[in-house]
Amino acid sequence: MSDFVEAFSSEYSQAFKVGEILFEEQTGQHHLVIFHNAVFGRVMALDGIIQTTEADEFIYHEMLAHVPLLAHGNAARVLIIGGGDGGILREVIRHAQVTSVTLVEIDQRVIDLSRRYLPHHSRGAFDDPRARVVIDDGLGWVLQTTDTFDVIICDSTDPIGPGEKLFQQDFYTACKRRLAKGGILATQNGVPFLQLDEVQATARRLKRLFGDWHFYTAAVPTYIGGIMTFGWASDDPAARRVDTATIQSRYERAGIVTRYYTPEIHHAAFALPKYILTAIGK
Ligand code: SAM
Repeated sequence: MSDFVEAFSSEYSQAFKVGEILFEEQTGQHHLVIFHNAVFGRVMALDGIIQTTEADEFIYHEMLAHVPLLAHGNAARVLIIGGGDGGILREVIRHAQVTSVTLVEIDQRVIDLSRRYLPHHSRGAFDDPRARVVIDDGLGWVLQTTDTFDVIICDSTDPIGPGEKLFQQDFYTACKRRLAKGGILATQNGVPFLQLDEVQATARRLKRLFGDWHFYTAAVPTYIGGIMTFGWASDDPAARRVDTATIQSRYERAGIVTRYYTPEIHHAAFALPKYILTAIGK
C-alpha cells in the first residue's frame, strides 16, 4: 500500500495511505487522482493538491455556501466558479429561494469523475432543474456574461495553473460587475499560516473594488496548515454584520440540517486572528 504525499514544500507535507487508487488521469487541465484512504474515505487530488475528501468535505462546502447565502437572506441567482465536485452546488440548491445556479467549471472530467466516484458530493445536484453547468474558464465566462447574480462563490483550486487567474484583479473586477445590488462574493482563499501572501494579495485587490471586504475561516483537516480563509466582498457592509438572531431565523426558515455550520459559527468565523488582521491592514 503506497502513500499519497501532498508536499506543501520540500520541508512540509502530509501523507495518506492509499488503500486503492480508484481512478487516475491526465485531463486537459489537471492531473486527477481519486483514491481511498481508511481515515478520509475517497479523496480527490488535482495536480498533487488535495481538493476534497468524503470525510471532511461538509465543513468546507457548508461554510462556503451557507455563510454568503444566509447573510444575503434572499439570494435567487447564484454563480459558482469551479466547484466541479458538486459539493457547493449541493449545498446551494438546498436553499428553496434559489431560482437559478450557474456552475462554470473548466474541466468536464472533474465533474464526470466526481459524479462517478464521489457521488455523495453532488448527491444529484447536477440534475436539479435550477442548475446550469457551463464548461469554460471562469474568468473568460464572467467577462462575457451579461447575467447578474446575488451571490458569486469561487470554489477554485489554488492560484496555480488554471486557478491562478481566479485570484487576479481582473477576475474580482469582473465578478463585481456581475453582482446585483447587495450582492456578495465569497471565495476559497487558502490556509493563511502557510499562504498568508495569498490572503494579503486578495485583500489588496478586494479593497480596491468593494465597499466592504474581509475574510472568514474554518478548519478543514485535509487542508494542511490550520484554519483556511474564505474571501468576502460586498458593497453592502450590513451583509457581513447581520445579527446572529436574524441568521438563526433564516437558517431555521431554510430548514437546512448541517453538520458543521451554525448561526453562531457564521458570526464567529469572521473574527480573525491578530496576525491575519495585521497582515491585511485591519
Ligand atoms: N475545495 C477545493 C479547494 O479548496 O481547493 C476546490 C475544489 S474544486 C474541485 C476546484 C475546481 O476549480 C476544479 O474542478 C478545477 O477544475 C476548477 N478550476 C480551476 N481553475 C478554473 C478556472 N479558471 N475556471 C473554472 N474552473 C476552474
